[in-house]
Amino acid sequence: MLGYRHAFHAGGGADVLKHTMLVFCLKYLCQKEKAFLYIDTHAGAGSYDLAGGYAEQNKEWKTGVAKLMEKAGKITQSETPSVINDYLSYTKTAAAYPGSPALARKILRPRDRIVCYEKHPADFLLLSELLSHDCGAEARNADGFEGLKSLLPPPSRRSCVLIDPSYEMRDDYEKTASAVMEALRRFPTGLYLVWYPLLVLNGAGETLRDALMAMYSGNRCCAELITGDKRREIGTKRGGLYGSGLVIYNPPWTLKAALEETLPFLADCVSAEHCGYGCQWIDLRSPAQ
Ligand code: SAM
Repeated sequence: MLGYRHAFHAGGGADVLKHTMLVFCLKYLCQKEKAFLYIDTHAGAGSYDLAGGYAEQNKEWKTGVAKLMEKAGKITQSETPSVINDYLSYTKTAAAYPGSPALARKILRPRDRIVCYEKHPADFLLLSELLSHDCGAEARNADGFEGLKSLLPPPSRRSCVLIDPSYEMRDDYEKTASAVMEALRRFPTGLYLVWYPLLVLNGAGETLRDALMAMYSGNRCCAELITGDKRREIGTKRGGLYGSGLVIYNPPWTLKAALEETLPFLADCVSAEHCGYGCQWIDLRSPAQ
């Protein structure tokens, strides 16, 4: 039985990194007329009430999205990276904090399609309710690793895939690597975002990141944000989560400049030491590596 509920962590530092990058990628794909498919292999409940319920217990959002809002509120819009402005425009106006499915719902057009997988029965019900008003969106109570295979390649040959496991099962690392390898084999030109944790307890996240970066020879990057002090995270509930990262395959070429501007800003807001971020960019499109 799955015990993880994303509501405990909604709006925290990991969400801030993941969701700013997701917003950027989805908006980039919307610049072209042609429809695309968004696949969320681990979708969660869809959106989260920060003022009550589980989110209220850990209050992770207070050190994540709330810090970002606070900083953005003190400076002008032009001093804030446009990625952050975009992300905040969705979080500020929403009644509840938008998770990845809710962000996709807000950004995608009627001609695009959304398929979300969620295994937890209670979160699946909430997700189904959120997506029930959209005929182009579908929630599936099934394994996202398996489901991904069946959807690739998409008929439109355009897609964005978010792979965002909770890594509560030790074999999630292996499953993520296998699912990504299979997805890239079926559809190597898709845009993929793969989230991984950085834990004090073990280096499983770093090992996964290195394997993910090595398994594809096309354009790819990884971006990391350190959110906690390693020493203080030892013994905490999440195995000492002190940061997280995303490997992105076939990133929009404009993402490099956006990351250079956004990561220092994010680190300044949500990082324990105000300097915790990292980025690796491997792009065959540009001669200057
Ligand atoms: N992507 C969401 C967001 O950004 O708002 C957060 C997702 S949360 C990190 C991971 C979710 O995956 C949990 O809700 C968990 O119940 C679900 N899950 C775990 N294993 C799964 C699997 N094999 N297939 C589909 N969902 C799974």
